[in-house]
Amino acid sequence: MQTSKKYKTTCCYCGVGCGIVVTDTGNGRIHVEGDKDHPVNKGMLCSKGMNLHYTVNDKSDRLLYPQMRMNRSMPMQQVSWDAALERTAAIFKAFIAKYGPDSVGLYVSGQCLTEEYYLWNKLMKGFIGSNNIDTNSRLCMSSAVVAYKLSLGEDAVPVCYDDIEASDCILVEGANPTWCHPILWRRIEAHRAANPDLKIITVDPRRTQTATSSDLHLQLNPGTDVTLNYAIARVLIENNWIDNKFIVNHTDGFGEFRTKIFERTLDESALICGVSVKDIQKAAYWIAKAKGFLSMWTMGLNQSVIGVNKNLSLINLSLITGKIGKPGNGPFSLTGQPNAMGGREVGGLANMLASHRDILNPQHRAEMETFWGGTTISDKMGLTATEMFKGLESDKLKAIWIACTNPMVSLPDAKMAEMALKNARFVVVQDISNKADTIRFADVVLPAAAWTEKEGTMTNAERRVSYLHKVSEAPGETLPDAEIICRFAEKMGWGDKFSYKNFGEIYEEYTRTTAGTNIDVTGVSYDLLKQHTVQWPYPAKAAQSKGTPRLFEDHRFYTANQRAKIHAVSDENESEKTSEDFPLILLTGRIRDQWHTMTKTGRVNKLKQHIPVPFLEIHPNDARSRGIENEAVVEIKGKRGSVKVKARTTDEVKEGNCFLPMHWGRILDNDFGRANNLTNNLIDPKSKEPDFKYSAVEVVRYQKP
Ligand code: SF4
Repeated sequence: MQTSKKYKTTCCYCGVGCGIVVTDTGNGRIHVEGDKDHPVNKGMLCSKGMNLHYTVNDKSDRLLYPQMRMNRSMPMQQVSWDAALERTAAIFKAFIAKYGPDSVGLYVSGQCLTEEYYLWNKLMKGFIGSNNIDTNSRLCMSSAVVAYKLSLGEDAVPVCYDDIEASDCILVEGANPTWCHPILWRRIEAHRAANPDLKIITVDPRRTQTATSSDLHLQLNPGTDVTLNYAIARVLIENNWIDNKFIVNHTDGFGEFRTKIFERTLDESALICGVSVKDIQKAAYWIAKAKGFLSMWTMGLNQSVIGVNKNLSLINLSLITGKIGKPGNGPFSLTGQPNAMGGREVGGLANMLASHRDILNPQHRAEMETFWGGTTISDKMGLTATEMFKGLESDKLKAIWIACTNPMVSLPDAKMAEMALKNARFVVVQDISNKADTIRFADVVLPAAAWTEKEGTMTNAERRVSYLHKVSEAPGETLPDAEIICRFAEKMGWGDKFSYKNFGEIYEEYTRTTAGTNIDVTGVSYDLLKQHTVQWPYPAKAAQSKGTPRLFEDHRFYTANQRAKIHAVSDENESEKTSEDFPLILLTGRIRDQWHTMTKTGRVNKLKQHIPVPFLEIHPNDARSRGIENEAVVEIKGKRGSVKVKARTTDEVKEGNCFLPMHWGRILDNDFGRANNLTNNLIDPKSKEPDFKYSAVEVVRYQKP
């Protein structure tokens, strides 16, 4: 008789980080339910989490063994792990010898576990000697990272989910948590049911479900968030609804900021933003009167050519009102991916080193060089996500290794990304699925173990570190990503530095890099995490507690002088300009039941029932003037490409705007609805995050050729 076993682990979809109980039924299948004891979700799961088992139980598209080919006109051949990794190592070594270490790159993912992220970075920065490693997290939260560092001195989310229940005003800006962070939204709704005085303000160019569930919707024009936040700040200052004592004692920059925001009148700002003065005043009043003011944001602020400025302008509202470091208060960046936070902890961006060290800081480089005992760490910033693909296109980058991500659908200007991979001299793809879009460009394909087939850790949006149990054996010859990296390092000649008895040893090595830093987790181990989750910092001496739920309770920030910085940035938008040919602004975003590029959720029939096909939301007036009826097939045209989908006429978008979901468009499915055919290559100059949510397009009724 088959016996079933239960394991506690963490949902692998979004940054909320819900706890789940996985039952291994003993016949190669699993069942998933919410973990009632988990502090994040208390047993609740959203539609994606509830259906997670389907993505694991269906193994029909799994990559089962390494493959390679000598050129791309040949079919892939099954090979041994040794053969695949020896060839990869030989080609990497040859490029490095001929063109230098910056001729190779790694592009990884916010879905990777912390241990994997750590090893990728150690390999690339500490041994290959290049900083050309970046992650798809660059596409979703790098603007928040930069803004937290500039304002609070560290990429450190100051709040926790329990602050939801302690707040009485929540400002949601550029986020749709009812669909994209559903369990957080359920906590907000439960809080509202118990506290009818709670005010929820949503700032979004679209009338999303979050907006309709709010007490106030500021439906601003795209790209005007900084102007709006400045207008709210102006009302707060004019009415003396600010905390002068906090400003004087704990911040710098207020004078310059005050001058900046008074450059525009309230009427002028309201006109630019397309919202009423009355609503701006109402929002400011609710923020001022709240004992607990929480702001929450995601991609609407981050995915912008002025993403850092948008973030800073929102964080300023917490700083000028002194509403930070207290229960129910603070600026909360809602991470998108499950381990975007963990990746940053170990230095998973092209500008970082382990434990939030900076590549450009000589002391930080020296510390990690000594710790790793490898090569000299380069003092050059590595190529970021979009820069890496541009590098391939121009042949500056010769080889790329892509792990656990689908750039053919997720990168902006996807046709450019496609061209870049065609041009690349050598491409390694490490994935779990034989349907990965990048495989058609691959020279070597490495089969990876899936989420339940390996152990490791992740950190959610509130700095909560969780342990993920291995539940079942990986099929075929698939290996955990961490083991693949170590085997490759051995082929490169660094086996002794990548030799670990178990995954816990990798994590323990990482924790030692955190000693004395703001993200100290020297008190954390697998043994501890198997008992309960912890929130960093968690130094060894704090080992009796569950960590640090809230930062800055002493109002000492992580800046050099321990004062937070109020920034007076420009409020001008730098996005692609609309024109006579392309007069509409295209917004992109997510839908409730799909995740990223649908490589997992797209395989679950139940999740297709909500919205089965891509669509374009267009305002009825814009549709009418173009002769487009509801449900008509339209072609969305931009400077870089086009997309054909059915139109949905709705006043949920403003006139002059239209909206296309970002999930569809696998090239294997013939480019169906790929939003990134239309998005542009503009990036924020400080965070290098792309401007996904603002591209100039035209929409016409589709005429069959
Ligand atoms: Fe998973 Fe996020 Fe849903 Fe929680 S909210 S169940 S972490 S997808």
